[in-house]
Amino acid sequence: MSNTFQKYNLPSALLGALARMQYEHPTAIQDQVIPIALTGQDILGSSKTGSGKTAAFSIPVVAQLMHRPDASVLVLAPTRELAEQVAGVMSSMVSGCKHLRTVLLIGGEPIGKQLMRLRTNPNIIVGTPGRVEDHLCRGSLHLHKTTFLVLDEIDRMLDMGFSIQIDKIIKRLPVERQTLMFSATLDRNIERLAGSYLRQPARINVEIADNESKNIQEESLYISESGKFQVLLEQLSRREGSVIIFVKTQMRADHISYQLQQANFKVRAIHGGLKQHQRKRVIKDFRNKHYAIIVATDVAARGLDIDHIKHVINYDFPQAAEDYTHRIGRTGRAGATGFALSMIASPQEKRLWRIIHNEPVEKEERGSFRQSSGFNRFKSRPFRRSFSG
Ligand code: ADP
Ligand code: MG
Repeated sequence: MSNTFQKYNLPSALLGALARMQYEHPTAIQDQVIPIALTGQDILGSSKTGSGKTAAFSIPVVAQLMHRPDASVLVLAPTRELAEQVAGVMSSMVSGCKHLRTVLLIGGEPIGKQLMRLRTNPNIIVGTPGRVEDHLCRGSLHLHKTTFLVLDEIDRMLDMGFSIQIDKIIKRLPVERQTLMFSATLDRNIERLAGSYLRQPARINVEIADNESKNIQEESLYISESGKFQVLLEQLSRREGSVIIFVKTQMRADHISYQLQQANFKVRAIHGGLKQHQRKRVIKDFRNKHYAIIVATDVAARGLDIDHIKHVINYDFPQAAEDYTHRIGRTGRAGATGFALSMIASPQEKRLWRIIHNEPVEKEERGSFRQSSGFNRFKSRPFRRSFSG
C-alpha cells in the first residue's frame, strides 16, 4: 500500500481514475512532487522526458480541484500535441466529476468551438501560449481568478520564443496562486523565470540512476554531409523497430522522407509546417505502426509520448545539448533498450558531442577534422547524463 497512490490521501474519485488509467505506483518525480504540491507550495521541478511529469502536476491539481468547485487551473505547454496530451490526461482524471470541465486552447483548430466551450466556464484550461493569449485579447478568457498555474516544459517554451506571451498571460493571473513549473533542464534562464513567477518554490530535481539510464546506447558516426544519406539507408536496413530521424529544418524533413519513400521505406515527415490534422494523422499512424519511420524536426517531436521508438537517428546533429537530451529521450522509455545514432558532420558538432559527453575537447582537433564520405570512426558508449546542470 505504501508504494501506491493511496498514501497521498487523494479523493476516491481520483484514485478510481488512476486505477482505470492503470497508474499503480507513482514514478520518482511524482512521489516527490505530489505531497509537496498538495500542501499548496510552488514547485520548480525537473526530470528527464518520459518520467511522468504530466501526472506529477495533474494529480495534485486535480485533487485540489475536486475539493474546491470554485478553483481553476491554467496549464501552458509548448506545442499543440503536448497540450492535447496534458488535456487528455487531466480529462481522464476528472471523468465522472461533472463540475470539472476541460477546454483545450490550441492553434490550428477552429476558434468557434473553443469560444463555445469557454462559455461553459471550464475550470481546467490547457493551451499553448499563442492561442491562450489570443483568447485573452478577444476577452473570451478571464484568468483573474485562476487558482493554479502550470508551466510545462518551460525550457522549450522559451526556446520557441514564447517568453513575452507567457509574461503577458501571467500578468493576468492573481498573485495569490499556486504555480508549478517544469523543465527537462535547469539553467540560468529558468532560474530567472522561477524567481519572478514562483514564490519560495520547492526545487525538485530527479536525477536518473545509472542503471536506469544505461538502457540507451549512444553511438556517433563522423561523416560528411554528402555521405549521410547512403549511411542512413544502410543503417535503416540493419535496424529493427521504430525509428525517429531528426533533421534541422522542415524542408529537410520533407526531402529526406521523400527520398526514403523512393527507396521503398514506409515513412512520414512531421514538422511545424504541417496542419494540425496532418500532424495528428502522422502521429496516430506511427503509434499504430502503419509506418516504422518518421522524420522529424525538434519542435514537432518534442514531448511526443510514443512508447515503442527503438532508434533515434540524429541525421543532423542538434544545435544544443538540451535538444540532444530531448531527442534521445524519445527512446529507451519504460526500461526498454534504445539506440541513438548521431551523424557528426563538422568540427563544431564533434565539439558539442564531446561537451555533452563530458569528454575533453582537444584544440588541435578543430583543424584536423576532415570530411570523408564513409565511416571515419564508429563509436559507441553507454548513456551518461551529466549535462543538464
Ligand atoms: P514527461 O512529461 O516527464 O515526459 P509523461 O508525463 O509524458 O512524461 O509520461 C510518460 C509516460 O508514462 C506516459 O505514457 C504516461 O502515461 C506514463 N505514466 C506516467 N506516470 C505513470 C504511472 N505512475 N504509472 C504508469 N504509467 C505512468
Ligand atoms: Mg511532459
